[in-house]
Amino acid sequence: MTARIIDGKAIAAALRADVAAKVAAAGFTPGLAVVLVGEDPASAVYVRTKDRAAREAGIAARTIRLPAGTSQADLLATIRALNEDPAIDGILVQLPLPPGIAPEAVIEAIDPDKDVDGFHPVNVGHLADGRPTLVPCTPLGIMKMLRAIGVTASGARAVVVGRSAIVGRPMARLLLSADATVTVAHSRTRDLPAECRRADILIAATGRPELVRADWVQPGATVIDVGINRLADGRLVGDVAFDACAAVAGAITPVPGGVGPMTVACLLENTLTAALHRRSR
Ligand code: NDP
Repeated sequence: MTARIIDGKAIAAALRADVAAKVAAAGFTPGLAVVLVGEDPASAVYVRTKDRAAREAGIAARTIRLPAGTSQADLLATIRALNEDPAIDGILVQLPLPPGIAPEAVIEAIDPDKDVDGFHPVNVGHLADGRPTLVPCTPLGIMKMLRAIGVTASGARAVVVGRSAIVGRPMARLLLSADATVTVAHSRTRDLPAECRRADILIAATGRPELVRADWVQPGATVIDVGINRLADGRLVGDVAFDACAAVAGAITPVPGGVGPMTVACLLENTLTAALHRRSR
């Protein structure tokens, strides 16, 4: 079998166009603040991508660049000012933060109604409770991608490899809310290949280059690769051995061009969702 390659770029482009149309019809301009602390080169690229995508969708994007030596108190003061700013509907603080700044304190300082990353404990709690509000962008994007290609989560066996707060845990909760039978695997899982082979929907979010091998994949399964790993030779690969797994899977995401574009598109949608919610109160 040769898997269908899931075109994340195309699905994301359709979502971005939909958000842009809704923004144009909204009668106001949603505002997104992206806070970048320090000069991490990968973070700088992500922030530029988000800023450009927001502008293209008609969202007023404001990138706030703070030096690497910024104190936690100063960062919290910046966030509090954005919380109070009526022109700002969404606040995103790019992670990772420099040493000396506690990410939990920063995330908890963001007004939950403006938390477009969906990392605030209030939004995490709503998701855990099965009442999602603002949901982390990467797992939200994966759910939309599954829907777009006609994969039904209801009744399916889903295995999520990785249990981070950003990807694995919210992914598992969304799949559960969509009535999948969900297993969350991690670095302590016994016989990970056997767990993965049970999956109709296999999501890899480990940050381990090409961890998932072809004989871990059930023939015909849908394989979603969240990983973004830069190898020593400069190649960008996911957490799935793409060529070998594509010969077994029914559908598979490439890296790049799979999950990544959906993450950005969902940030725009979350910003619009936050803006509409705030203005409806
Ligand atoms: P984390 O490092 O926070 O979490 C990794 C998870 O994978 C942990 O739960 C860890 O288990 C588990 N894990 C690590 N090694 C193994 C192993 N050998 N076998 C089984 N499980 C393992 O990473 P993130 O969740 O933040 O990110 C994962 C990947 O996704 C990264 O490559 C990241 O760059 C990428 N990413 C991509 C995004 C996109 O838009 N495409 C967005 C966000 C992330 P344990 O808990 O036991 O340590």
